[in-house]
Amino acid sequence: MASILVVDDEKIIRDGCVKILGKEGWAVRTAASGEEGLGLMENEPFDLLLLDLKMPGLSGMDVLQQVKSLHPDLLVLVITGYATVESAVEAMKAGAYDFIPKPFTPDQLRIVVHRALEKGALQREAELLRREREKGLREIADEKSKIKTIIHSMADGVLVTDHEGHVVLHNPAAVKMLRMKTSPVFGQPLQDCLGNGCLVDLVSKIMQVSKEGSSAVSQEVVMGEIALMAHIATVRSEEGEVLGVVTVLRDISMLKAMDRMKSDFVAMVSHELRAPLTSVEQQLSVVLAGIIGEVGERQKEMLGRAKERTHALLTLINDLLDISKIEAGFVVQQKEPTQIPEVLEKVLEVLRHEAESKSISLQLSCIEGLPPVMADRGNMEEVFINLVSNGIKYTSAGGAVHLSARIEGSHLCVEVADNGIGISAEDLPRIFDKFYRVKNVQTRKITGTGLGLPIVKGIVEAHLGSIEVESQPGIGSRFRVYLPLELSAKGKT
Ligand code: ADP
Repeated sequence: MASILVVDDEKIIRDGCVKILGKEGWAVRTAASGEEGLGLMENEPFDLLLLDLKMPGLSGMDVLQQVKSLHPDLLVLVITGYATVESAVEAMKAGAYDFIPKPFTPDQLRIVVHRALEKGALQREAELLRREREKGLREIADEKSKIKTIIHSMADGVLVTDHEGHVVLHNPAAVKMLRMKTSPVFGQPLQDCLGNGCLVDLVSKIMQVSKEGSSAVSQEVVMGEIALMAHIATVRSEEGEVLGVVTVLRDISMLKAMDRMKSDFVAMVSHELRAPLTSVEQQLSVVLAGIIGEVGERQKEMLGRAKERTHALLTLINDLLDISKIEAGFVVQQKEPTQIPEVLEKVLEVLRHEAESKSISLQLSCIEGLPPVMADRGNMEEVFINLVSNGIKYTSAGGAVHLSARIEGSHLCVEVADNGIGISAEDLPRIFDKFYRVKNVQTRKITGTGLGLPIVKGIVEAHLGSIEVESQPGIGSRFRVYLPLELSAKGKT
């Protein structure tokens, strides 16, 4: 309910107002002088003041001035005589909302007061909205500056681009890590800021993620001594639309150095172990062959097991040495035009005995006249020995391993297919990881190091080739190695 204060020295006006306005449901208080009115306003809030301008003592104008400074939001309607219209205009200039000339009819009073109260309500609502908006804007600004401060203080580099590859946010760490000459300006194309040759791949990866909307990818960026890991992820709206890409950069140089130290250590230890173990294996062979005296059945059995174990240990050591060579980038010894069918024949020869002892047939079919590939022959033998011996190991007696070679586009494709135990879809993505071995009832008794396939992959990639696998449990596996047919090797035989 609105509350109204009427300040007028004429009792008839005060009583009239109480009657007319009271009927409208409003609470009406009266004061006979300006002083009395100001006193009332001090103690209770009013929504509207009806103020007579012409009063003895404190004039209406004086009251108005005090009200405007003490209660600036209070709406004031001035009551004026005909003769004082000019002062009514003055009063409105001083902050009164409207005026009503004396004498007025009850309807005139009702209309003016209704209008004033409505305006008051609207004003209050507008003020409330303004405050809320101001508060919201302040909160957003606070939040923005908080996020900005956090991003600016991060040790990891942050680079945010819109869907067209324009930089919209970055932090000083990103500028430093990517060795940008100047900080990018808002909206600058990514290519312009990352002109550095070794960053071309990073730029195209970011553009690719943005275009394809892939969820997240990681890419290593090497800049001389410095190695960075870039995690690239799309930023999506609540509706799922791709808005841009956020790239977080982390300096992994230290981790890389530690990894190198670890590899060097493993290589050194393996190297030191290889010579004495080879000697132990040889001596066991000599003893087992009965060259230095007769060996009883029980001794043969135990020495045989010792030799088997020594051999497994030597395989592990050789694999560790191979993988550390690959990791150090020293895998390819000598690239020369290599006839892959010849390599495959040699591989079959080496493994024929192993296959026969398991009753597994080995088959080879190559397209006639295949061109040679530029490759290290020893490396190629190692690749296919690993793949074929896996085929033999993971295929039950009576099965077959089939080797074939053909041309596919600009590559020579060599396939090693078996009809063995196969690999589940769950294990498939991990079989090229170091030391990963599938563990199930069928593989429990098969020995291995889990390094064969990582070595194969490392060698193939060092020859700029690739390897892929298709497999179904219970049906078999197909490993395909793609080697580039380099121009220099084409045509040579
Ligand atoms: P391992 O020394 O264990 O053979 P690899 O790196 O050569 O190590 O292979 C990794 C794993 O992949 C193996 O443990 C095996 O489970 C699976 N695997 C490899 N080749 C085959 C294959 N031809 N058939 C079925 N499983 C295979």
